Amino acid sequence: MWAVSETLDLESFRAEARQSIAAATSTEGLRELATALMGKRSPLALFSRQLGTLGEAERKVLGQTLHAVRTELESELDERRTVLAEAELAAELESGKLDLTEFRPGMLPSPQGRGHLHVVTQTRDELEDVFVAMGFTVAEGPEVETDWYNFGALNIPPAHPARGMWDTFYLEVGESESTLLRTHTSPVQIHQMEVAVATGTLPLHAVMPGRCYRRDTPDARHLAVFHQIEGLVVDRGITFADLAGTIEAFTAAYFGPDIHSRLRPAYFPFTEPSAEFEITCTICHGQGCRTCSQTGWIELGGCGMVDPAVFAAVGIDPDEWTGFAFGFGIDRCAQMRHQISDMRALIENDVRFLRQF
Ligand SMILES: [Zn+2]
Repeated sequence: MWAVSETLDLESFRAEARQSIAAATSTEGLRELATALMGKRSPLALFSRQLGTLGEAERKVLGQTLHAVRTELESELDERRTVLAEAELAAELESGKLDLTEFRPGMLPSPQGRGHLHVVTQTRDELEDVFVAMGFTVAEGPEVETDWYNFGALNIPPAHPARGMWDTFYLEVGESESTLLRTHTSPVQIHQMEVAVATGTLPLHAVMPGRCYRRDTPDARHLAVFHQIEGLVVDRGITFADLAGTIEAFTAAYFGPDIHSRLRPAYFPFTEPSAEFEITCTICHGQGCRTCSQTGWIELGGCGMVDPAVFAAVGIDPDEWTGFAFGFGIDRCAQMRHQISDMRALIENDVRFLRQF
C-alpha cells in the first residue's frame, strides 16, 4: 500500500494515513488498514527498525515522534471504528425491520379471541333483567354476616333444629354474637326491610343476587361457594296467589313459554306457608327423562309467605303488611338452562368449557 523506501518521509506517511482512516467505509476495511499502517510489515515498523542505525540524539527524537504518530493513528482508528460500527448496526436494523402491516398465513400466532363474561355472571345478569322488567329493584349485601342476620332474624334462633339445614362456615364464635359466611342471600332481605322501615319506604319489591357459602362437598349438583338470587315482596294485601303468579311469570320469561312452574308444600323457618317450586324439565319438556326421574318436573327453589316472626324481628306490623319471598341457585339455573351435567365445571375455569357460552 505504501512504498517503503529509504526516503519515506514520516510526516507525509502520517498525513496519508490519517486521510486513509477518514476515507475507510467499513469496519472490515478499517481492520485491514490498521494492519497495513501499524503491522509488522508497515511503514511504521520500518521507521522503528531505522532507529538502530541512528545516533543516540537522533534516535531519541525519532523514537518520541514515532510514539506520538502511533498513538495518534491508534486513536483515529478507534474513533473511525466507532462511527462505522454504529452506521453498520443502524443499516442492519433498518434492513431487518418488520413490516407490521404485512400478513402471511402462518407467520403470526393465531389471534387470541376476546374474553367474555363467565356463564354464571351472564345468568345472573339475565335473571336481574327479567326481574327488573317485572318491577323489582336489585339489592346487595355483605357476604360476612352476624348470626342474627343469617339466622336469628329469620326465625332460626340458636339450637333451632332447622340450623342443620345449613352447614355453616363460622368465622368467629362469640358468647353473644358470632360472625359467619352467609349461607344464603336471605340476610339481605332483613337489611332491606330494616332500611325500608327506618326510611318509611315500604312497600318493597326487591331481588337479591349474591355469593353464598356452605360446608358442602362439591358434587355434580352442589358447590361449597355458590350463587343465589332471592326475591322479596312486602306490600298491603299480598297473597299466596301473587307468589304463585310471580313464579310462573318469571319461569315463562326466563325459560320460555313452554316451561311452567308448580308449587309443592315444604318447610322453611322464615316462611309460612312454605313451598318448593318446580319447573317443567328443560331437557324433555315434560315428557319424562332420566334427569327428571321420568316426572317431567325438576326442582328449582323454595318460596313462601313471609313468617310474621320475621316481620316482628324487623319491626313491620304483620296486621298491615304481608309479603312473600322466594329463592333459587343461579348456578343451578345456568346448569338447567345450558344443560351442564356437572356443576363443578363452573368453577374449574377450563377455557374449552367456558368459551361455549
Ligand atoms: Zn326430563
